[in-house]
Amino acid sequence: MFRTRFAPSPTGPLHLGHAYSALLAHDMAVQQQGAFLLRIEDIDQSRARPEWEDQIYDDLAWLGLTWPAPIMKQSERLQIYKDTLQTLWDRNLIYACRCSRKDIAAAASAPQEGADPLIGPDGVVYPGTCRPNAIKNRPDAPPTDAALRLDMARAVASHETFSFQETGQGPQGEHGRITFTPDQMVHEIGDIVLARRDMGTSYHLSVVLDDAAQEITDVVRGQDLFEATKIHIVLQTLLNLPHPTYHHHDLIRDEHGKRLAKRDDARAISLYRAEGRSPKEIRNMVMP
Ligand code: GLU
Repeated sequence: MFRTRFAPSPTGPLHLGHAYSALLAHDMAVQQQGAFLLRIEDIDQSRARPEWEDQIYDDLAWLGLTWPAPIMKQSERLQIYKDTLQTLWDRNLIYACRCSRKDIAAAASAPQEGADPLIGPDGVVYPGTCRPNAIKNRPDAPPTDAALRLDMARAVASHETFSFQETGQGPQGEHGRITFTPDQMVHEIGDIVLARRDMGTSYHLSVVLDDAAQEITDVVRGQDLFEATKIHIVLQTLLNLPHPTYHHHDLIRDEHGKRLAKRDDARAISLYRAEGRSPKEIRNMVMP
């Protein structure tokens, strides 16, 4: 059965871009006689607020969406993320990193003075400063006062290619079977952070575990996450989780062509509501 989800972070108001993503996922679920689930992505406890979470429920219900209870909340799943990190630690696939952003930027541009460092979906491709050459004298558990990075070369070592099914479109029109190589993962994406020091997890780790726990068959989300999907496929492979089908949709942009962000409060659904707009008007504004 088709199962999809909408996974907002309660760190600001939902805007037209969110309305589009949620309506699209919901409509696809209805069309396929499947399920539309909601998940609250609140791992960033320094930014998540209960008021925003309440506003999410209120705005989505106003738009006419329904979802089954209970609602999955990432803040209630921290132990699962921790247990998974322990497994990856035991398999020598993650290592502790204490580099600051500044250290990384400096090390990344050092080899070719003046050349721009490589940028992956998570920013500068990590130059490997803290990556251990040999695993010895490791504590039994990963430290909690450091970030934990995936050793990408080890993670992809026994694979020839990776792939996923795209039913929407990537930013360059990518569609259908998308394939990528271990080499690309190592050089273009690199050792990504799987647990931030302040969170004990990361978006990538949580999203992969949660999509599996919610038995999501089809992920519907914005094109900005197309490249990150490659990370998710590698993690699913490592953790023996099923690969959902992905449907990346185009992004709602403002009149200058800039994509809407959380801080674009001017497009907040709540403001349109306050102006007396109807859910149908919002639907007409965003749906093709
Ligand atoms: N919480 C993420 C966001 O708001 C969701 C990403 C996803 O759907 O995988 O962008």
